[in-house]
Amino acid sequence: MQKWLQNDYMNRDEIKNLQEENFLHFFNYAYQNSRFYRGMYDNAGIKPDHIKSLADLQHLPFTTKEHLRNNYPYEMAAVPMEKIVRIHASSGTTGKPVVMGYTKEDLKNWARGVARICNIAGASSQDIAQVSFGYGLFTGGFGLHNGLEELGVTVVPFSSGNTDRQLDLMKDFQTTILVSTPSFALYMAETAREKNIDPSSYYLRLGLFGGEPFSEAMRQEIENQWQIKATLNYGLTEVVGPGISGDCSAQKGMHLLEDLFIPEIIDPNTGEILPEGEKGELVLTPLYKEGFPVIRYRTGDITRIIPETCSCGRSLQRMDYITGRTDDMIIIKGVNIFPSQVEEVLTEFEEVSPHYCLVLHRSKDFIKQLEVQIELAPEGFSDSFREMELLEDKIRQRLKSHLSLTPRVKLMNPKTLERTTGKSRRIFEIEGDE
Ligand code: ADP
Ligand code: ZN
Repeated sequence: MQKWLQNDYMNRDEIKNLQEENFLHFFNYAYQNSRFYRGMYDNAGIKPDHIKSLADLQHLPFTTKEHLRNNYPYEMAAVPMEKIVRIHASSGTTGKPVVMGYTKEDLKNWARGVARICNIAGASSQDIAQVSFGYGLFTGGFGLHNGLEELGVTVVPFSSGNTDRQLDLMKDFQTTILVSTPSFALYMAETAREKNIDPSSYYLRLGLFGGEPFSEAMRQEIENQWQIKATLNYGLTEVVGPGISGDCSAQKGMHLLEDLFIPEIIDPNTGEILPEGEKGELVLTPLYKEGFPVIRYRTGDITRIIPETCSCGRSLQRMDYITGRTDDMIIIKGVNIFPSQVEEVLTEFEEVSPHYCLVLHRSKDFIKQLEVQIELAPEGFSDSFREMELLEDKIRQRLKSHLSLTPRVKLMNPKTLERTTGKSRRIFEIEGDE
């Protein structure tokens, strides 16, 4: 049984001691019960008595998405399937989904963890929360639902889609918290405006957003539109789902539940652990997960651990916002690019909206051209061809200096790029030049 922190303000030594105790327990549990991990460690010559402290974690091999895919669907289980009471699968944003199973105990712990994240963000039993994440295999819907209930929040389990009705009920039910992807929160605001309703006239006061990256400018936009505090939280199916880290009201990085998860940051190319504060790939080890344990899972998400203590006084370390995932990285003419870098530039221009996508023109094995399609903001639209051309040129110049590469820039009419009720897709590939 893992031990939980009594509060988020304990001193760092106490947190580390607890983390170590939980880790040793979990490692032994996985070794004893998971055929996958016993096999992996036996192959690597690692015996349970080699692992004596937190520092020994780094001697264990990584677990990758490939391992999970190769053990599809149930080979990662460390308990008989009769003890598994729930199955989830990743959204498959980047390929074949992976499957995770939860025992009753796992579900209880998951809900308690998510409740803590929601509490850190400022939610309380006074609130009414609309969950606009999809309910289904995706962990977002059920994860937030159970966590919010655990915290005592009144939950409206709307699920995704049907934006008009979402807006109507949000008003009728006097909903104070919106749970969704950041892109859906923006889309909802846009839809409200189309119906001539000012988004700030709703009762919303807090957003619990997650599932995809979120630039500071996008946060500002959502906060201004809705007049709410927009917080971000992080999780992934392979490790448990949401409930790993989340913003406090300072909104300067997401506090990690360190009694339940060990974060490491590695160089994605060499696998070496990077010095504290440096940016790299996040590797996570959950410390509860008896159903489908994972140890040292390579998340593919790029971030860093913020070394400073947060102004809120919580001693739990924070991870910075995700700037991309290793599998979203585009390599073009030898330059590495993440969609978030493009987004940073676009947010400097008032004339364009936060809706954009990257179109990669591929020829055989390599990408020849990057085209950035950006939707004009309704106010940014002009009939003057010359003005539009000048704007395109200005954006191209800024992108060029930011990315060290000159992309093609294509301004699109307002509301022409596809909207999403879930995670937005930013990268599209086409064959050939045009
Ligand atoms: P998929 O990998 O198919 O999208 P999930 O539904 O489990 O699977 O989503 C987890 C992924 O979503 C994370 O690995 C991360 O890339 C992204 N994600 C989740 N929360 C955040 C967040 N707060 N900021 C940025 N990205 C996030
Ligand atoms: Zn804080």
